[in-house]
Amino acid sequence: MSKPLKFKIEKKLNNSLGRAGVISTPHGDIETPAFVTVGTKGTVKALSPEQVKDLGAQVVLANTYHLYLQPHDYIIRDAGGIHKFMNWSGPTMTDSGGFQVFSLGAAYGKNISKVTSAESAPLLLPENSEDDVVKIATIDHDGVTFKSIIDGSLHYFTPERSIEIQHNIGADIIFAFDECTSPNEPLRYQQEALDRTHRWAKKSLEYHKNAKPIHLGTKFPSERQALFGIVQGGRFEELRKESATVLAGMDFDGYGIGGSFAKEDMGTAVKWVNEILPEEKPRHLLGIGEPEDLFMAVENGCDLFDCVAPTRIARNGQVYTRFGKENLLNNKFIEDYTQIDSECDCYTCKNYTRAYVAHLFRAKEMFAATLASIHNLYFIINLVKKMRESMLNDTFHEFKNSFLEGYRKNKDL
Ligand SMILES: [Zn+2]
Repeated sequence: MSKPLKFKIEKKLNNSLGRAGVISTPHGDIETPAFVTVGTKGTVKALSPEQVKDLGAQVVLANTYHLYLQPHDYIIRDAGGIHKFMNWSGPTMTDSGGFQVFSLGAAYGKNISKVTSAESAPLLLPENSEDDVVKIATIDHDGVTFKSIIDGSLHYFTPERSIEIQHNIGADIIFAFDECTSPNEPLRYQQEALDRTHRWAKKSLEYHKNAKPIHLGTKFPSERQALFGIVQGGRFEELRKESATVLAGMDFDGYGIGGSFAKEDMGTAVKWVNEILPEEKPRHLLGIGEPEDLFMAVENGCDLFDCVAPTRIARNGQVYTRFGKENLLNNKFIEDYTQIDSECDCYTCKNYTRAYVAHLFRAKEMFAATLASIHNLYFIINLVKKMRESMLNDTFHEFKNSFLEGYRKNKDL
C-alpha cells in the first residue's frame, strides 16, 4: 500500500531538535515548520478560501466534534469530502474531537485549556462555548458520552467512531481519539487517562488500517489519509516519556502533542517527547499559536501548530504587531492614519489605515473581522515562514532574539 504522507527533512538546527522540512500530502506540500490555519466548522471565520490562500496559508484544520454535530459527517462524505465541500484544494486536517468532547464536557468547569495561564486561557477555549449549555461528559473504558452543544442531545464517541467520522470528512491528516486532561489533575488521574489514550490510540490505528473504501472504486482510507497518534501525559515527565515511547512503537504516520501544559514548562515537556518520537515523522503541537510559544516549539522539534487565537482575537479588535499586540478599540487609534504594522505586507496593511479598521470595529461592520483576521493570520503564518527561512540560512537564533526583543516592547494588553 502506498503511504498517504511523506516527510523530508531539509535542514536541522545545531544543538537542538529543530528542523525544516516538507510534508507531502495528496493535496499538495506543506513547507515546515508551518502554522496551520483553523477552520473549525469547515470555514476560516470571516474569510473566503481565496483570501486564506492569498495570505499564505498552506493547510486548514477543521474540527471533528463540530462537523459531526453540524452538518453531520455523512453530509460532507456525500458532498465529496471536505476539500470539495468547503472549496479548499490544499492540504487539510481534522482533529479527533477529543479536546472538544472533554473541554465542552466534564472538564469545562475546571477551566481546562491547552495552556494554564490566566492571560491566554480564555483565548484558547473552543469556539462557541456558550455558558448556558449544560456541559456533561462521562468517560468509560471504550469512549465518552457527551451532550451536544447545539441541542443538548446525547452522543457517544469511541476511537472507532472518531476515525469513521474523520474518514467521512476526508481530510489529508487525521488524529487518533485521545483524552485531553487538565494540567491541574493529579498524577494518579493522569496515569489512568494516559492508559485510556494509549488503548484508544491502538484502536484508532487498527480501525484506520482495516477500514474499507468509502465509495466503490475509491482508495482505502489508510492510503489517502495519514493518521497521527497523540502524545499526552500532562506536566509529568515520566508520563510524557512513557506516552512518547508507547506511541513511537505504533505505526502512525506522524504525531500530535496534546495539551495540557503549564506555560512555563511547555518547552521542557515538548523536548522530553521529541527526543523520543521518531525523527523521520512529522510532529504537530496542538493548540499553540502565540509567537513566543511558536519559537519554543520550533526550536524543540515541532513541525506544525494550530491555534484559534489569531482569528478569535482579530474578531475582538486585537492585532499582532512586531511590537506586541494592540487593541484597535483603543482611543489612540481613532485618528491614526498609519497601517497596523508598518513592515507588514498583508492585504489589510497595504490598503487600509488603523483609523479605518478601528472605525469598522466601532461601527460593528462585518468587514472589520475580515481585515483584522487577514492581518493576524498573515502575521503568524509569515512569522513561522521566517523561522523556516532562518533555519535554512543558519540565522534562527539571531532572528528569534531580534523578533522577541521587539515583540516584548508593548505590554499594553
Ligand atoms: Zn498586515
